[in-house]
Amino acid sequence: MSEFYKRALEIQEELVKYRRHIYSRPEVGMDLPNTTRFVQETLREHGLEAVEIAPSALSVLIEGPKEGKTILLRADMDALQMEDRCGLDFASTIPGKMHACGHDIHTVMAMGAAILLNERKNELEGSVKIMFQPGEEIFQGAKLMIKAGILENPSVDAALDMHVDASSTLGNLSYPAGPFTTSGDNFTIKLRGKGAHGSEPNNARDPISAATKIYSALMTLRANEVSPKDYFVLSICSLNAGNSHNIIPDEAVLKGTMRTYNAEVRDYMLQRIPEIVTEISQLYKVESVFELEMSTPSIVNDAAMVKRVETYLDDFGVDFISDPYARISASDDFAYISTQIPSVMLFIGAKPEGVEHNYLHNSAVVFDEDVIPLGAAIFAHCAYNYLSEGE
Ligand SMILES: [Zn+2]
Ligand SMILES: [Zn+2]
Repeated sequence: MSEFYKRALEIQEELVKYRRHIYSRPEVGMDLPNTTRFVQETLREHGLEAVEIAPSALSVLIEGPKEGKTILLRADMDALQMEDRCGLDFASTIPGKMHACGHDIHTVMAMGAAILLNERKNELEGSVKIMFQPGEEIFQGAKLMIKAGILENPSVDAALDMHVDASSTLGNLSYPAGPFTTSGDNFTIKLRGKGAHGSEPNNARDPISAATKIYSALMTLRANEVSPKDYFVLSICSLNAGNSHNIIPDEAVLKGTMRTYNAEVRDYMLQRIPEIVTEISQLYKVESVFELEMSTPSIVNDAAMVKRVETYLDDFGVDFISDPYARISASDDFAYISTQIPSVMLFIGAKPEGVEHNYLHNSAVVFDEDVIPLGAAIFAHCAYNYLSEGE
């Protein structure tokens, strides 16, 4: 068994304590002052300095005695705006906020990796950088940290990220080469016409007519303009206009989301959807605005890095179950790093045995805490071996 895993199991109790502390005090979005302070203070007790390179964005650098490459380990720390119904005795104490995506566990796995690697710092042939980011759920945190220089000084050669999977049990570990998560683009279409009495539609420029035509046109894109071989989802999830029987409204607003694994399809659609909106709006004499509100590319696992990680994990001492065809239909802003640095995202099973219907972003989701030492050790083991390989 990996020495890192043995050591991680020795400090498991401590790591679980950290996790429960974070779980019970969730913070959302870009402002995570308490979580950030907790990570900083706890790591300081272990002789590690977590530098706040941007608000609620921490960077830890562990440098070995020898020059070498730098590998980045990434954790996200933000929770979700939802009520905690998990029923655990360390449940969220903050109404309307919950760690339903496991980012509390990611944070502690990365803290664990920092502690484990720091203990063997003198053996490192290069550097390990660990980032703790805010705002993953709104796709802003990774961008913020890249802007703040997380990939520089020293410049990063490779990156690893881990996400818990609420639907598979401990020992499942998937990290297929190629596109792994979808790109995610949430958009709003605002249509501004001219309201009038319902009995006199000739005096109006009706935004509802334009909205429904735009809706129909967008719904045919999958069938008419995307290859059957490509995964592409476009959903309009909200359409609001007017609130009366006899007043044609001034405005209609549509909100939707688009997901795909194919960057070319994404680029095409990000140009094509606004084009359709503009054309139809002109036809119906209404003004239109297309806004992208949350946007991230797809995470693409680098094939050479995937091979390396596979080799490292052969010596880990656990028989992992890996699905080479696994893909995740959700999106994650680690994508901003994976588009710049050879990266791997690993999906790690964390469903407790015997629990059914366990899903991320569900208010009753629970996790097997044994994933914490395992994830921390996988992070440390892979980082250590990557640096030992040299060129
Ligand atoms: Zn999430
Ligand atoms: Zn997540």
